[in-house]
Amino acid sequence: MPLVRGHDRRRTPFREFVLKLHARCNLACDYCYMYEMADTAWRGVNSTMSDRVLDQVCRRIAEHVDGASRSVRVVLHGGEPMMVGVAALVSAADRVRAAVAPLTIVDVTIQTNGVLLDDHAIDRLCQAGIRIGVSLDGDRQANDRHRRYANGRSSYDAVDRALRSLSLRPDHFAGILGVVDLDNDPVSTFDNLIQYHPPAIDFLLPHGNWTSPPPRWSPPGETPYGDWLVAAFDRWYDAPVQETRVRFFEEVISLALGGASRLETIGISPVATVVVDVDGAYEQIDTLRSTYPGAVDTGMNVFAHSLDELLGHPAILDRQIGLEALSDDCLACPLHRICGGGYYPHRYRAETGFRNPSVYCADLGRLIRHVVPRVRADLAVLKGRLEDGTPDAGNDASPR
Ligand code: SF4
Repeated sequence: MPLVRGHDRRRTPFREFVLKLHARCNLACDYCYMYEMADTAWRGVNSTMSDRVLDQVCRRIAEHVDGASRSVRVVLHGGEPMMVGVAALVSAADRVRAAVAPLTIVDVTIQTNGVLLDDHAIDRLCQAGIRIGVSLDGDRQANDRHRRYANGRSSYDAVDRALRSLSLRPDHFAGILGVVDLDNDPVSTFDNLIQYHPPAIDFLLPHGNWTSPPPRWSPPGETPYGDWLVAAFDRWYDAPVQETRVRFFEEVISLALGGASRLETIGISPVATVVVDVDGAYEQIDTLRSTYPGAVDTGMNVFAHSLDELLGHPAILDRQIGLEALSDDCLACPLHRICGGGYYPHRYRAETGFRNPSVYCADLGRLIRHVVPRVRADLAVLKGRLEDGTPDAGNDASPR
């Protein structure tokens, strides 16, 4: 199916590089896009990224950035990246940094399931300037519903231990990434995650699309995921002090106030993330695996193609052209400049590709219609107080 309407687009350089250092995982989470969904190509891939591939990745990043950007982000990913060992993680970070120094600074993070994250590993990663993000969906019951070892054993104790250690190292704690599960109470989930003092919480909607809908998805008109997010938003927004950042909510607020989005999951800003597989193949965002086999493939790799060349790939362009990638339904929707049609993989339908509203359309609408009036009303109150010269205008907890 044709992905791009027209040609000659202005291209946005890549600024986030996701390096898949290990292709396997030590957990068997039942909702994993990598190992449990449509695309099973991982079965034929080498398990770790070789030095030869990593060196070439570093060269490609350096030539792409070429001093034009003061900072880029590298995410050490997998599979489970901790399975390559801490020394290899530190070495990867050092080599990427050396490749782009001195003009460009690299913010290196690792996104891990946390089960191998003992104190020694945390210390080494912190010393190497690698920030650590951990995946956890809530309390023990929430975790064990999906995030178990292949033999069924719980992973909770190991992750809980790792997060308690990380909470003592706030400068190196990148945050917690949790998948929304309707079986978990949203407020309890938030309270459970906040006990680790993460600087940020990212709530991800479960992977799904019009052909393979998310769990407990309901037809248009019902908004179970929107209701969940609204309850979590109110818990976060109504706190007397800001306990953490919730980027998805911050983005909705920013977009409602006319800002640009920085997350791929909402808004229409061009995508600037590229994934490099363990064998050096350039891939699209991993979550596209949830749509159809081969959806992430570009047919390009670090040895044969530069990152500049990859920017010309039709599928990459389609995720960079913003409004033009939206369906007619989204373009006619009054929320589209905030929503942006939702996350690209969630728009997929086997018959029509990605030119559809999100499968979470009604849920996103429910959240946006809740957040925007709340924020605007609070801003109006704040503005009125400032104009009146109310002395404590800046000290009241609400509006923030
Ligand atoms: S996904 Fe739905 S809410 Fe979002 S822009 Fe499209 S039609 Fe509007």
